[in-house]
Amino acid sequence: MDDPIPLSALQHFVFCPRQCALIHVEQVWAENSQTARGSQQHERAHSGGSEERGGTRTLRALPLVSRRHGLAGVADVVEVLPDGSPRPVEYKSGRAKPRLADEVQLCAQALCLEEMFGVDIPEGFIYHVASRKRREVSFTPELRQAVLDARDGVRELLRSRVLPPPAADDRCPLCSLFDECEPFAPRDFPAGYDPFSTRLDEPRG
Ligand code: SF4
Repeated sequence: MDDPIPLSALQHFVFCPRQCALIHVEQVWAENSQTARGSQQHERAHSGGSEERGGTRTLRALPLVSRRHGLAGVADVVEVLPDGSPRPVEYKSGRAKPRLADEVQLCAQALCLEEMFGVDIPEGFIYHVASRKRREVSFTPELRQAVLDARDGVRELLRSRVLPPPAADDRCPLCSLFDECEPFAPRDFPAGYDPFSTRLDEPRG
């Protein structure tokens, strides 16, 4: 049986396959102000333990696994409603990632929880730390399929160990691995475009 795919790798892969390979194949990791802030928030969410308020139990740093789908990871927060049904809550410190990367990661958590709790989970939440707002994410059939497609993509990446070509597009200025990746060869710069001046280390709120 194959090793389970880390839930975080799904998010990296959907955002950019090259980022996923840099982190999960080449073990490159760079911290910028956004990821540092995210680490602090995740540390808090990952401090473990549980509490109960208004009949809803909040579990922190809950290990997740799905044997059926070959996934494993840790949920920032899982809220268990009074009827015993769990809802994953993923904490995000920076901008919403393009291409449903955050949504795929959250839905993958739900697939694990459905197997662990033996229930259907129709939605979960992404909590944006900067704005202190959370938004609901519906786990549609399309999103569930996107999770499985990303899992297969990550598995193939880990098997081949081939570094995909750079995206070299609007994802790159948002990327914590920009410097390590060097996505823009000088010959690729559009006239008058300076990618370094467009780097955005501050969260969008
Ligand atoms: S800098 Fe761009 S190409 Fe490189 S890993 Fe990040 S998003 Fe992907």
